[in-house]
Parts: sequence; C-alpha cells; structure tokens
Amino acid sequence: MTDVPKTNLLDLDRDGLERFFAEELGEKRFRAHQIMKWIYHQHVTDFGQMTDVGKALRAKLEARAEIRPPSVHFDKPSADGTHKWLLGMDQSNAIETVFIPDKGRGTLCVSSQVGCGLNCQFCSTATQGFNRNLSTAEIIGQVWIASKHLGNKTHQQRKLTNVVMMGMGEPLLNFDNVVRAMSLMRDDLGFGLANKRVTLSTAGLVPMIDRLGDEADVSLAVSLHAPNDALRTELVPLNKKYPVAELMEACVRYLGKRKKGESITFEYTLMKGVNDSPATARELARLMRQFSNRMQYADAAKVNLIPFNPFPGTRFERSGETEIRAFQKLLLDAGVLTMVRRTRGDDIDAACGQLKGQVMDKTRRQATFKLKNTIPSTTQTH
Ligand code: SF4
Repeated sequence: MTDVPKTNLLDLDRDGLERFFAEELGEKRFRAHQIMKWIYHQHVTDFGQMTDVGKALRAKLEARAEIRPPSVHFDKPSADGTHKWLLGMDQSNAIETVFIPDKGRGTLCVSSQVGCGLNCQFCSTATQGFNRNLSTAEIIGQVWIASKHLGNKTHQQRKLTNVVMMGMGEPLLNFDNVVRAMSLMRDDLGFGLANKRVTLSTAGLVPMIDRLGDEADVSLAVSLHAPNDALRTELVPLNKKYPVAELMEACVRYLGKRKKGESITFEYTLMKGVNDSPATARELARLMRQFSNRMQYADAAKVNLIPFNPFPGTRFERSGETEIRAFQKLLLDAGVLTMVRRTRGDDIDAACGQLKGQVMDKTRRQATFKLKNTIPSTTQTH
C-alpha cells in the first residue's frame, strides 16, 4: 500500500478545512471549526490532546492529516521587547519573523517569499535573490509560532494585535497563499484580528492591487520611496511597468472598495542625497494631497518615513536627523499625516532592513552582488 501524503491543516483556510472534512474524511463540515479552535486558539498540534474530539475522528485525522508549523532555528529577545525568530522553511531555506510591541499594540512582520524576485535598489532582500513562494502553512505558521510564544489568547488577552505582510518578498506575487493566510489571521476561528489590523505591503503590482480589493478586505501599504517616475524607476524597477500615476489610480480604486475614512500608508525610505531633498518632499506632499482630494477626505494618504538602515555593500546612506525632521515637517505643514518609523530591536539586528534569512538563490543575483562587493549579504524588507 502506498502512503498518501498527510495534509498539513495549516495550509487550509476555514472553507478549505470544511471541504477537507466533508470530502476527504466524510465528516460534518462544522467539525472543522472544533479543530480550528484547537489549532489557533489553544496552539495544539497533537490530535491526541484535542479532548472534545471523538476517538474515531482523532484516528482519521492522525492517519490523513498533520499540523506542522515551520521549525524554529532560534529565537532572540531584544532589550526593548522586540522578538525575532529564525524559521526553517525547508532543509536549505530560512526566513526571519519579528514581533514589535509598542504602546497598546503588538505587530508581527511576516514574510511571503524566500527572498524576492523584484530588485529594489535599496533593499538587501533583493541582494539575496529569490528561491520560492511560501505556502499558506509557512505564512500562517509564522503567526502561529509568535502567538504561541507570546501566550496570545484570541478574543481575550491579545499581545499580538497587528500583522504586516512586510517581511521578505512581494506578497502580491504569492497571491493565493497570502490571501488564504490573511483570511486565517482575520477569521474568528483563527487569530480573530480586525480587517484593518492586517496590512499587506506591495511594491506596486497594479493589476494585483485591483484583485486584492475584490478578494480580501485588508489594509494596504505601498512601498513608494519616490514621488516621480524618473527617481522611482531608479529605486524600484517595477515602476517601469507600473508608473506612479497608474499606481496612484490603483490606490484610489482600492480605497474606493473599503470603508469610507480608511487610509493607505505610503512607505518612504529616506536615503541621503537621493530622495530626501526639500523639493522632493514638496513633490511628495503634492502627490499625497492629490490622492486625498481624489478620495474626498483628509488623511486618505499617510506617509511612513523610514530612515534607511544600511547593509554591507549598499551604495546608499541614511539621511541625517536634520534632513529627516525637515522632510517630515514639510509634509506635515502641507497637511499630510506623516510618521517617522522608530528603529526597534537594534541589539538583535531586527530593525527594518536588518533581517537575515537564508536563501538558496535561483536567480544568481546573490552571487553577482557578492562578487561586486565581496561581502556577505543580509536581507531588507519593503
Ligand atoms: S523592497 Fe520588497 S519588493 Fe522590493 S526587493 Fe525588497 S522585498 Fe522585494
């Protein structure tokens, strides 16, 4: 008799799990709900511990299914409460996940791919090349591991309140797995997070932004980094295909599908002498104001300024504190809600742009970058 591979239940959202119970196990669909509560509310992976599940069903599950999160290579706390995990995805690839507590909220930064195929010039994930998309289990597994570690109690005592798909990879290039995992994050039988507390960050894949608006109800962040095509194409090559005007139109359509009053966050990494001049700040302010005017309410656009975190071999430098403050002030004076992202987890290399994964590169980009710079690479996120 040939062994049928076991289904990892973390790969299935509520709908998929109900179908698995009905079609594969010959059970009532609602039985799936019991199992979801054990997995996501109690962090139980052993069917034997699911005390309210009948013996016969437990035996079927043991034969046909498993609950297998990624393996934890190590985890590290930071003095400021930030926590980092290195998670093995298979025998040769690993990614990092970071939890960042802040006043009244706790945000987990989650990856969607091993490496990234896009080539944003200021991003160290890009220098590591690309291996593959993460499965749904590997994406939701990052949340599961952090939630278990934090002693998170869904619907009761939550330490993990927000998820940002902002780690390694372009989430919209792994659309189905990301949407399925985000549905588990928001499902009451999953992690029960409010829709607006789950944020997807994209480099600007216009058609997929439209699809996301039709198929999921989550917050959107856009890695903008420049207010015009000449500069943005230099920093984010994807801009050649989807220029700023088209991207902003897609954002208008996206917000149009969501509840009135919600906003899109535009991420802007500040690099010395590249995109931090007062003239660029004024141009960005105009673009953001035009966007809010199109939506017909203030603060439809929010700007998140991220001081660049240098990595070995990069040609960019972090903007000076004076330039950062001046850039923010110009935007605020123009009526654009603008925050500067504080650096967290410095002592454990968990700040934005300092995450290290292990990518078996299939694109040769890692080798080319190392050859040019004769240094090891690190990863940086959106
Ligand atoms: S910024 Fe995001 S999309 Fe661009 S290369 Fe890095 S991970 Fe990929």
